[in-house]
Amino acid sequence: MIQNSMLHATSFNKEGSPEQTRTYWNQFLGEQPFEKYELSLGVELSRDLLKIAEEHALTVDSIVHSAWGVLLSRYNDTSDITFEIAVMRQAFPEPIAVELHLEEHLSFIEWLRSFQEARALATARSDKFSEGHYTHGLTGCEFHAHVLSAEAQFIIKLVYSGSAHAHEAVRRAAHHFRSIIQAVVGNPAIALRDIDILTDEEKQALHGFNGPDFQFPGEKSIHHLFQEQAAAGPDRIALICEEQRFTYREVNGNANRLAHWMIGQGIGTEKLVAILMHRGPRMVECMLAVWKAGGAYIPLDPAYPAERIRDIVGSSGCSLIVTETAAAHPWLTGDTLCPAVNLDDLETELQEYAADNPELSADSGQLSYVIYTSGSTGKPKGAMVEHLGMMNHLYAKINDLAIADSSIVVQNASHCFDISVWQFFAALTVGGTTLIYPNDLAADPDFLIDSVIADRASILEVVPSYLSVMLEFLETERRAFPELKKLVVTGEALKQNVVKRWFALYPAIPVVNAYGPTEASDDITHHIMNDVPQLDTIPVGKPLHNFNIYIVDQEMRLCPIGAKGEICVSGIGVGRGYLNDAARTDAVFMNDPFTQETDRRLYKTGDLGRWLPGGIIEFFGRKDYQVKIRGFRIELGEIENKLVNHPDVHEAVVIDLEDELGTKYLCAYLVGRPDIDIAAVKTHMSQQLPYYMVPSHVIQLDKMPVTPNGKVDRKAMPKPQAMVLV
Ligand code: AMP
Repeated sequence: MIQNSMLHATSFNKEGSPEQTRTYWNQFLGEQPFEKYELSLGVELSRDLLKIAEEHALTVDSIVHSAWGVLLSRYNDTSDITFEIAVMRQAFPEPIAVELHLEEHLSFIEWLRSFQEARALATARSDKFSEGHYTHGLTGCEFHAHVLSAEAQFIIKLVYSGSAHAHEAVRRAAHHFRSIIQAVVGNPAIALRDIDILTDEEKQALHGFNGPDFQFPGEKSIHHLFQEQAAAGPDRIALICEEQRFTYREVNGNANRLAHWMIGQGIGTEKLVAILMHRGPRMVECMLAVWKAGGAYIPLDPAYPAERIRDIVGSSGCSLIVTETAAAHPWLTGDTLCPAVNLDDLETELQEYAADNPELSADSGQLSYVIYTSGSTGKPKGAMVEHLGMMNHLYAKINDLAIADSSIVVQNASHCFDISVWQFFAALTVGGTTLIYPNDLAADPDFLIDSVIADRASILEVVPSYLSVMLEFLETERRAFPELKKLVVTGEALKQNVVKRWFALYPAIPVVNAYGPTEASDDITHHIMNDVPQLDTIPVGKPLHNFNIYIVDQEMRLCPIGAKGEICVSGIGVGRGYLNDAARTDAVFMNDPFTQETDRRLYKTGDLGRWLPGGIIEFFGRKDYQVKIRGFRIELGEIENKLVNHPDVHEAVVIDLEDELGTKYLCAYLVGRPDIDIAAVKTHMSQQLPYYMVPSHVIQLDKMPVTPNGKVDRKAMPKPQAMVLV
């Protein structure tokens, strides 16, 4: 495994004899178990290396060390690197630490000069390498590079102590090292950003990691497939919600009447319809109706504060709000910015509309839904997803979870989150049944467990934190899930102990770790597990069909297998960007630069990951301040922005913390007037933010702790002692 750790790099040193250098290494390594990997540079490259050194009056080892610095920077996706080299002191090699800042626009020769300066500085200071001093290294094991001159060619000798599986990683690193030497020897003036470290073999391997091609009838979206099922089996049960059961005929008929009505109201291609309702069968009919009319829906939660609903309705420019009496929102009595209709008031009128299918539009590139997610600037952003992307994801779920007409899929996620889409519709497109669990049931793990068993559900999806609580119940009182075929876990990092606990109780029920962002039509990878993986972490798995995934560094170059970088995704599942927000769209959406295909969209997720051999992805968290609390996606910046709008608050920082049980929560730190009324701040937050974004703890500070370079030090915030807010 290649990630942060320690590194020593020493090379053939002109001043000392190879013999002395060897003695040094033997002494250094004598007490530790180690493995070796040797890679010859070859006669030709070795000769060229010497030639370049002579031409530029450089030592071979300064070229090699500088190349090593480039390698370290690439592996750790950072421009600040520290590594150790051996210098000769009184005829003996002595290790010194060199600290460097790499700038990608520099030519290799310029970079080499800065390396020489840094080395001179370090030699003068005589910095001794000490454990823990190194922030960046190459492997999960200790790793030493040693370039020896032997019989007219240089040999890279990598000595490492670590597990057997480190061998592959070290082998790859040696080849990357050689690629860098090759590139700079070929052209010493090459800009650092242009050095390609990947070998052809590896480029091939990375290409092979892309999701497989999968053809599906792209012209048919959910509403088309649903009405086909309704025609084939009208009396089958489509939806179950509490005591109610609805056949395909009923749901399709109701959706059709509403669609005809909407068409009459001017809802057509890509017109946006906001659905402000509680989750339930009527919502499903409403979504189908919007699609049948050619429009796209925007889900709104009646529990959202008025201000958020107003923001979304206003900025989306939607044409219609559909609501119901049970969801009556106080905001609806004011200026709603666009027409609103209460379905309860429309019931009688709807009966006059035909129950037959409207003539359906068939453009798969049409917008399907817009889901608003938290936005760091303080305004939520509306991710636009098209029918084709939505269908691509739906087929991935149908295939990987083996959803069929006998399946009963639980729908427990809020309709304001994209996971609700497949939960609502995967079964309905293949003749199966969707089991809608309303919020109060879904929020109670004990109740949910009983219901899943009693309702004979075949597929259940939960977030890891919820699964952990479910397991506490199940470990106390074991209950069998005779009909459950797969458990899907999503939304946040899945920890190994949770998977272990599940398989200890249910060895025959596979777990699928599903990962992906709203912007790419929900999940982009699946990791299907029949057992606890023999890895340190639970990976997020392999790319789903028709997706390419790239792990890139800050310069948008492909990272080698094992190196950490940002996860980017391209393909038909990538959405259109953010509604009416070109600036935020342009920041993270682009054309895929890695394929010949024109107009293949790519989305930069902001998530960090790395490829593991075999093409599975390990997830490391975020590059930014987006967090997940109980599966809810939250930009801490959005909460901070709302807080500083309060007149008593001058500065605000919000962080996510974990309690002793590993449960995450939000804590806000405020600096402002001495007598900040915390209760008023709480009210202020609840009036503007969804409940899950309101921090449970608020702490007032005299001033924010800062790092030596003056930035707010998020790590130095005091831990909350007592609950100030609940
Ligand atoms: P959302 O758009 O609400 O689905 O949130 C997407 C983000 O949630 C991703 O970019 C990840 O940061 C995180 N996420 C989703 N699924 C997983 C997973 N299985 N493991 C780790 N993080 C996840």
